[in-house]
Amino acid sequence: MNLLLDPDDAAFREEVRAFLAAELTPALQRGQYLNAAIYPEPEISGAWQKILHRRGWLVPLWPVEWGGTGWNPVRRFVFETECALAGAPLVHPMGVRLVGPVLLRYGTETQKQHYLPRILAGEDYWCQGFSESGAGSDLAALKLRAVPQGADYVLDGSKIWTTHAHHANCMFALVRTSSEGRRQDGITFLLIDMHSPGVTVRPIRTIGGDHDLNEVFFDQVRVPQANRVGEENAGWDCARYLLEFERGAGIFSPRLRSQLKRVGDVMRSLQAQGTAFDGLLYRRFGNVLADLDTFEMLELKTFALLEPGRTPGPLSSVLKLRASRMRQAIAELGIEVLGPHSLRWHGAGEEPAIEAAEQALLPDFLNSRAATIFGGAQEIQLGIIAKTLLGDPPR
Ligand SMILES: Cc1cc2nc3c(=O)[nH]c(=O)nc-3n(C[C@H](O)[C@H](O)[C@H](O)COP(=O)(O)OP(=O)(O)OC[C@H]3O[C@@H](n4cnc5c(N)ncnc54)[C@H](O)[C@@H]3O)c2cc1C
Repeated sequence: MNLLLDPDDAAFREEVRAFLAAELTPALQRGQYLNAAIYPEPEISGAWQKILHRRGWLVPLWPVEWGGTGWNPVRRFVFETECALAGAPLVHPMGVRLVGPVLLRYGTETQKQHYLPRILAGEDYWCQGFSESGAGSDLAALKLRAVPQGADYVLDGSKIWTTHAHHANCMFALVRTSSEGRRQDGITFLLIDMHSPGVTVRPIRTIGGDHDLNEVFFDQVRVPQANRVGEENAGWDCARYLLEFERGAGIFSPRLRSQLKRVGDVMRSLQAQGTAFDGLLYRRFGNVLADLDTFEMLELKTFALLEPGRTPGPLSSVLKLRASRMRQAIAELGIEVLGPHSLRWHGAGEEPAIEAAEQALLPDFLNSRAATIFGGAQEIQLGIIAKTLLGDPPR
């Protein structure tokens, strides 16, 4: 693998840097820097999404005719790295990275023409209705019932852990349309208007104090059958395809590096205020940095070998597992650096007693506990890796 960029890719990196210097405002940088939740709030991510869309750089994995960039994986990596290092906000992935690719592959022409331009323009804000209580890792156990009635389905049941459902006007969901045969063969993929009568969204507060998650209830909710993606009872194929993008389309190491940079910033600031750190802490910082360098090499190698527009398949479980554990290791380091200062974390509505970056480290640590759960828990990733190594790839 050639680790040096060829002249074309190096020129591309300069183009990205110039774009970021011109378009990335301090307000957007600050919104991302202080964000300790899973995703930044919609006004931050949405504003950045519009800027990327205007430049034609929003959906690198989509086909060019639908707005894709046609970048090779190295360029994707360069782009993600430069955005993360410059502190650009994360784009909310539910539309552009999850339901978008599913529509491109399984959607009707009418669905594509309606939804894809709206996803690009940020006119719809999507949430993911997969998990239910009792159906997380064992997703095929889901029960939310959808019964055909005239031109509609009528939905009864609930979803849980639905990130940003309180902001969303659209949900893509897996629903049960049959209880015959294999559980996977009775599931259908539906697009739901969150403003439909009978939909109720209730907040779930995270350990970090944020409102990211929700429970969503469906009471006799009518969804047009025209909003079904793929055939009835064939939603499992859509779900598997989507999970490939959820777990494997992200490039993690640039964001981990900016997370570590924030910890380093706080360390320097506390040092300047007279805090003396133990040698052990410097060694831990060095170890985390070395792990991150190794992970970055693994990620680079994986992406360098990929065809444009493809995801890394089962290898994405290795990347997801390593990335989520690194995210936690960096967050733990942040707490070690803060030491007793973390006890000065202020409650909602109180004046912060410490600097803004320091302020983000404790909720970041608390929220990072979820990194080894969402998008497939670590035990599940380990199972996939083991099965793949043993020559029995999971279905
Ligand atoms: C912050 C956050 C955001 C989320 N956002 C969304 C969202 O937007 N939309 C959505 O649909 N879902 C979302 N989820 C849900 C997420 O996908 C599930 O939490 C996850 O799949 C685990 O399911 P569960 O919580 O039901 O735990 P369970 O599946 O009950 O697992 C509990 C524990 O048992 C272990 N376990 C389960 N099965 C096995 C097995 N076969 N072998 C070994 N160990 C096993 C798990 O690894 C875990 O440690 C989110 C979750 C979190 C924490």
